[in-house]
Amino acid sequence: DLEKIKKTSSGDSKQLKSDGKEMGGAWPGQAFSLQIEEVLFHEKSKYQDVLVFKSKTYGNVLILDGIIQCTERDEFAYQEMLAHLPLFAHPNPKKVLIIGGGDGGILREVLKHASVESVTMCEIDEMVIDVSKKYLPGMAEQFGNPKFNLFIGDGFEFLKNHKNEFDVVITDSSDPVGPAESLFGQSYYQLLSESMKNGGILSSQAESVWLHLELISHMIEFTKKIFPTVQYASSIMSTYPSGTMGYLIASKDNRDVTKPARTLTSEEIKSMNLKFYNSELHSAAFILPTFVNQALQGS
Ligand code: SAM
Repeated sequence: DLEKIKKTSSGDSKQLKSDGKEMGGAWPGQAFSLQIEEVLFHEKSKYQDVLVFKSKTYGNVLILDGIIQCTERDEFAYQEMLAHLPLFAHPNPKKVLIIGGGDGGILREVLKHASVESVTMCEIDEMVIDVSKKYLPGMAEQFGNPKFNLFIGDGFEFLKNHKNEFDVVITDSSDPVGPAESLFGQSYYQLLSESMKNGGILSSQAESVWLHLELISHMIEFTKKIFPTVQYASSIMSTYPSGTMGYLIASKDNRDVTKPARTLTSEEIKSMNLKFYNSELHSAAFILPTFVNQALQGS
C-alpha cells in the first residue's frame, strides 16, 4: 500500500525556496508563492524541517519539510471542516482523539462542542507545538485547557494501545512523505476502527482532487473494507496545492455522515465563532464534481 501511495503522492524533491515558492515532487510542474517578510524560526527537529515565517498577506505561516501546513489567514477553512464534519455527524461526541494536529487549530475547534469531555492529542513532534504556541497563538490557544491530554509519539504506535475508547478520531497529519507516511495505509485504518467505540466517526486529511485522485481512490477502497460508511468531502482552501482540500469521513455504523446529526442556528454559528462551517455546507461538501465521481466509482 505504502509503495503505491508514495508513487502517487511524492516525487523526487520538495522544498520551499528562499523566495517563498512551494515547489516540488508532490505536485510537479506547478508552484505556489507567498511573499516572505521575515523568517521567524527555522530548525531541524528530530523528524522534519520546521520553518515559520511572517508573510506579506497571509500572516504567520508554518512549513514542515518545505510544505505549507497552515497560514493564519485561511487556516479556519481547513480546521473547521476537518473537525466539524465528524463532530456534527455524531449525535453526542464525548471523547475525541487527534492524531497530529500540533499547531492546535483542530483542538480549538473540537473544544467548541459542549458535549466533549476530553480531547487527547498524539503528536510526534514537540517542536511543532512549541513553535505554534509562540508564533501561531490564535491556533494554539487551547493547549492549557483542562479537558486536554497530550501524548508525544507516533500516532500509529499510540493506537495499538487504545481500543474501544473514542467517539471521534481526527487525523490532522502532514502529507504521506516523512513521519506521516504510516498514517495513510490500510493497517492504520484498521487500528483507527479498533480505537473507536460503536458508532464512532473518523475524519482524515485526504489531499486534493486535482492532484491526488489515484491516492484518494485507493484510500477509499481500503477504508471501505473496514468501515460500513465511507464518504469523501471537499472544499476550498486557499494555500493548499490547487486550492482545494479533501476529507475522508468514515463511520463504524451505517450512519449517513453527509447529514449533520445536529444543525446550527446563525446565533450558534456566531457564538461558536465559526467562520467557514455551517450545516448547509456540511451536506454540500459531499457533492462532488463529475470527474471526481467518475474517478472514485468502483473504489
Ligand atoms: N493541516 C496540515 C496539512 O495538511 O497541511 C497538517 C497540520 S500539521 C499540524 C500535521 C502534524 O502531523 C505535524 O505537526 C506533524 O508533526 C504531525 N505528524 C506527522 N506524522 C505523525 C505521526 N506519525 N504521528 C503523529 N503526528 C504526526
